[in-house]
Amino acid sequence: MDTDPNCIFCKIVAGELPATVVAEDEATISFMDINPLNEGHLLVVPREHHEFIATVPGTVLSHMTLIAQWLAAALRASPVRTEGVNLYLADGSAAGQEVPHAHLHVIPRFNGDGFRIRAKRPPTPTRQQLEETASQIRTAATD
Ligand SMILES: [Zn+2]
Repeated sequence: MDTDPNCIFCKIVAGELPATVVAEDEATISFMDINPLNEGHLLVVPREHHEFIATVPGTVLSHMTLIAQWLAAALRASPVRTEGVNLYLADGSAAGQEVPHAHLHVIPRFNGDGFRIRAKRPPTPTRQQLEETASQIRTAATD
């Protein structure tokens, strides 16, 4: 299994750093975010070290999503204030990834909690600009 000795999530997986674990299985460990955006903020982390989602095996990434779905249901059924849930995956520091080990946030939400992804958007693109950008993405997409 791939690990990085300097990675705090790998250290949590190895039991070398503490975490408040909510669920774990052979492929993932899910624990409380120590700097939560709201009470109940969880992280679903693959046991293997992968900085970016590009190298996370598809079966593991799919499994992470299913775990997040299950945890979202648990949050809604729990006393934790959960009127909605955001699943959030930051892939790369420019996207807000703070720990370089891929992870999926499960964030309980409620009206008026103040959480925002972005306050300002770029100008609305024209249809032609959308088509050009889509073409660039299609061209770059690989199997
Ligand atoms: Zn790691």
